[in-house]
Amino acid sequence: MRRSEREVKDPSQIEEIMAQAMVCRLALSDGESPYLVPLNFGLGDGCLYLHSALQGKKIDLIRKNPRVCFELEAYVEVLPAPKICDWSVRYATVIGTGRAALLEDAAEKIQGMNAITRHYSPAPHEFTAEEVAKVAVIKVMIESLSGKKVN
Ligand SMILES: Cc1cc2nc3c(=O)[nH]c(=O)nc-3n(C[C@H](O)[C@H](O)[C@H](O)COP(=O)(O)OP(=O)(O)OC[C@H]3O[C@@H](n4cnc5c(N)ncnc54)[C@H](O)[C@@H]3O)c2cc1C
Repeated sequence: MRRSEREVKDPSQIEEIMAQAMVCRLALSDGESPYLVPLNFGLGDGCLYLHSALQGKKIDLIRKNPRVCFELEAYVEVLPAPKICDWSVRYATVIGTGRAALLEDAAEKIQGMNAITRHYSPAPHEFTAEEVAKVAVIKVMIESLSGKKVN
């Protein structure tokens, strides 16, 4: 990282940024063009969980190429200053890479759906078999993570 003083190396701080983030920006590629989608997410052991309709561009791309990059951010705030060139932004971000897999097993899908629910609400939720069947659950096994924090 060019601004090395901004690098977050402590794994517990990286975890904290991930826990505070509300949106996961998932970048996919068909080998020619990048494609990026904002998604809700949940955290697992060394992985991210995402959910989706069963069809769509991101599902097609994951099937073609499971390699992904993702970004999560927290504490974002624009900091104005009298001179425009002195404006700043406070943020903490994590960028990672990994491999996405579409889960088939119902128990594994429920594990992922629970992780996503837990990220946004402490209230437990029971999923019916029908709810599980009509949603795609994506597990991203994380291969690399970097963290950066400003202000
Ligand atoms: C904060 C946030 C959270 C979200 N959480 C989820 C989630 O958890 N699960 C989920 O499935 N979806 C979520 N969405 C919607 C998601 O961003 C996609 O719109 C959706 O998943 C469809 O993606 P797709 O690749 O299947 O697109 P398709 O329906 O196949 O459409 C592909 C085309 O639509 C365009 N497109 C797709 N999504 C968007 C978009 N968001 N904005 C502008 N153009 C778009 C693409 O550029 C492409 O040309 C969320 C959106 C936001 C903003």
